Amino acid sequence: MSDEIIVKPRGTTDILPDEVHRWTNAESTFRRNCEAFGFEEIRTPYFEYTKLFDRGVGETTDIVQKEMFSVVPSVKMRSIYEPDFDPEAFKRSQAKEGLTLKPEGTAPVMRAYVENKLYAQGGITKLFYITPCFRHERPQAGRLRAFHQMGVEALGTTSPTVDAEVITVAATYLESMGIPKTTLKINSIGCPTCRPTYHAALKAYLEPKLPKLCDLCNERFHKNPLRVLDCKNDSCRAEVADAPKMLDYLCEECSTHFDGVKRMLDAMGTAYEVDPGIVRGLDYYTKTAFEFVSESLGAQSTVCGGGRYDGLVEQIGGPSTPGVGFGMGMERLLLAIENAGTLQEKAQMMQLYIMVRGEDNLPAAGKLITAMRRLGIRSEMEHDGRSIKAQFKYANKRGIPYVIVIGDEERESGNIVVKRMEDGTESAFSLDDSIGISDFILK
Ligand code: ATP
Ligand code: MG
Repeated sequence: MSDEIIVKPRGTTDILPDEVHRWTNAESTFRRNCEAFGFEEIRTPYFEYTKLFDRGVGETTDIVQKEMFSVVPSVKMRSIYEPDFDPEAFKRSQAKEGLTLKPEGTAPVMRAYVENKLYAQGGITKLFYITPCFRHERPQAGRLRAFHQMGVEALGTTSPTVDAEVITVAATYLESMGIPKTTLKINSIGCPTCRPTYHAALKAYLEPKLPKLCDLCNERFHKNPLRVLDCKNDSCRAEVADAPKMLDYLCEECSTHFDGVKRMLDAMGTAYEVDPGIVRGLDYYTKTAFEFVSESLGAQSTVCGGGRYDGLVEQIGGPSTPGVGFGMGMERLLLAIENAGTLQEKAQMMQLYIMVRGEDNLPAAGKLITAMRRLGIRSEMEHDGRSIKAQFKYANKRGIPYVIVIGDEERESGNIVVKRMEDGTESAFSLDDSIGISDFILK
């Protein structure tokens, strides 16, 4: 070993074989659930032009202002191999092009929707994604620099019943993952018709309180006063507790829409609380805003956030298209499951172990194990020529339920015995009878 062991970058994690089943289970349950609700999977690249996030996440957000990982292609080798290569000019051109690792899932899906003209199909487009995301944040429990999001987007309709469907996908998923104490909080944050009146009322309320609010809230007051209601700072929260509520300022259209969402949630059996403090800070967010909050998480209690964004597709250059969706943090989801004590046990991986006595018998073992693997039996064989005693010990320690020994006698006679380790039951088979062996193991 060299002196220096290279470690993973800060704010990243390794998902080791012992825990990866939790991830695959969370992902496959999400896929199944989304498909039951009529959503189809979409995959987009891990990096995009930076300007997509400037426009599609918003220049006033924390993400765009300080959390983005922008990518610069390596110039090290090119400087050596290309005598005319000018690394500074190259960097300048890259800065103009500007690539960024995706900090969230929605903007890339909107970009793909517009670029591939998915809207041309007409009707409602229902998409879901599971993706790594990257944000340069201060790492802490439930907050990483490389993490994963799962989400859905429903595009092409303003119908409140689709808001309720999107919310219910998340609710049924969280329920099936066994997170008992999650609360769904919903709100309506209005539209460009009613929000300006509300903004004015909110600003009038906040203005005298500015000296008591944090620096960030002072900045938010000027750029987007709604965001002040989203401050995580306890003293700011206390100051704004009695702030005017958007719900009291909704225009008729927004008010009818919100009633429609609630009525459909009731019908779908999705329990919710109306919480006027739930806001999505960007201008293109409209009407419905929601969060799922889990009691079993600490400070980072929001496991899922979403809402309606009727202005977003247009914002990134597409045709005006209404939409609604959510994003869910997988690390937070798994943390909530862990804290709730509903962790799934890892399933036994190996089903069959083929022991080999003597190097001459390796090919016979190789032939049989390949036939077993083709039948889907999770199998392993001895490669290192250990004694049969050591091989038995190994199979025992691993808890492998079935074993076969292949030695000279088995190879010459063409007959083997499959042994069930649990009770010592043995059954004889021909070396070629992989189907018979498989049936015995699966019985
Ligand atoms: P937060 O309030 O935690 O800062 P956010 O408003 O930045 O969340 P969104 O951009 O709405 O979060 O992302 C959706 C979900 O992704 C969050 O609810 C959370 O579960 C997860 N998430 C966001 N940032 C991180 C991160 N740095 N590490 C792990 N999960 C994250
Ligand atoms: Mg954040």
